[in-house]
Amino acid sequence: MTKTIDEILLQEEFSRDDLIALIDSDDEGKKKLFQKAHEVKQQFIGNKVYFRGLVEFSNICSKDCYYCGIRKSNKNAHRYNITDEDILEAARFAHENKYGSMVIQGGELDSPVFVDRIDHLLKEIKKLSNGELGITLSLGEQTEKTYQRWFDSGAHRYLLRIESSTPELYYKIHPNNPKHDFDTRLECLYKLQRVGYQTGTGVMIGLPFQTSEHLADDLLFFKKLSVDMVGMGPYIEHENTPLYQHRHLLIPLQDRFTLALKMIAILRIMMKDINIAAATALQAIDPIGREKALKVGANIIMPNITPTDFRGDYLLYENKPCIDEGADECSNCLEARIKFAGDEIGYGHWGDSKHFFERRKQVSVGSQQ
Ligand code: SAH
Repeated sequence: MTKTIDEILLQEEFSRDDLIALIDSDDEGKKKLFQKAHEVKQQFIGNKVYFRGLVEFSNICSKDCYYCGIRKSNKNAHRYNITDEDILEAARFAHENKYGSMVIQGGELDSPVFVDRIDHLLKEIKKLSNGELGITLSLGEQTEKTYQRWFDSGAHRYLLRIESSTPELYYKIHPNNPKHDFDTRLECLYKLQRVGYQTGTGVMIGLPFQTSEHLADDLLFFKKLSVDMVGMGPYIEHENTPLYQHRHLLIPLQDRFTLALKMIAILRIMMKDINIAAATALQAIDPIGREKALKVGANIIMPNITPTDFRGDYLLYENKPCIDEGADECSNCLEARIKFAGDEIGYGHWGDSKHFFERRKQVSVGSQQ
């Protein structure tokens, strides 16, 4: 006999079939799932939301992902590269406004000049904030040596979405060549964990060719890797990308949004003490999308602090929000929105993943035995 949603939600662990049932749940099941996820968040995480000031410092990218608007082959993308001084200015803004942390994200490059540049920026940011500003990097696949160097210079968290944990689907959304190799990307997550980063990953939700089985496997993948942070959001098509030709396979945007919320809610119940980001792509679909994600389990928001002049060019997908307002306006509007969602901002804190410290404790206990 198949289990009801109530029965599934009473269990401590979810099987793959349970996950599929939760992902496919109807409106009534969804409400129960959201309620349970809300309770788990209150109990294990509380109502503190942490900010990561996001700087999208360049859209120059060596990769050719089929879904992404800043892919190398998109000749229509206007390329930019913010100066070091502007990045440091954004860091100063984050520090002065007690954001606690910032995220440096950009297209994926790995030249020695690029590696040196990031290294230099990390040291400068640590200096200007007296070591107070936490730094997360999101700069794609690198060698272990590079990850180590950036870690030694002050980065302590790293985001690298696996995009899909199913190799077949991964290769439907990426070219199958050495530059886009599933195993290499997976290995990078292990490297990050070895170096000692709080490690984050994630997937896109509602991709063409993606099934509920794929999404269930993504959730099991996060658990198996024991990741510290997850950022996942709806896939949003971009006209100047190859995946656009498969748009007839897509479910409506609103349904992709609901599916993303369900994924966040299920993950919060499965991994009670990790950090879960309310992805910006949620807000591209629903004006209060990120706040809705906070209600069902997310606890991290990444306000965009990229200088306004450049925001219009970091267009990963269509209808990207907040591209025409400055960082000041962004944070005012966010504070009001977060209070509205019933949460409170953890100003001036790094907001580290509790899971990371638990994982560390277990490792050191293990090594003493
Ligand atoms: N170069 C970095 C950062 C990439 S952009 C890296 O390789 O990790 C950050 C994320 O945006 C990607 O990981 C991807 O999941 C998401 N993204 C890209 N295109 C998207 C789209 N069309 N819709 C939704 N999310 C998208």
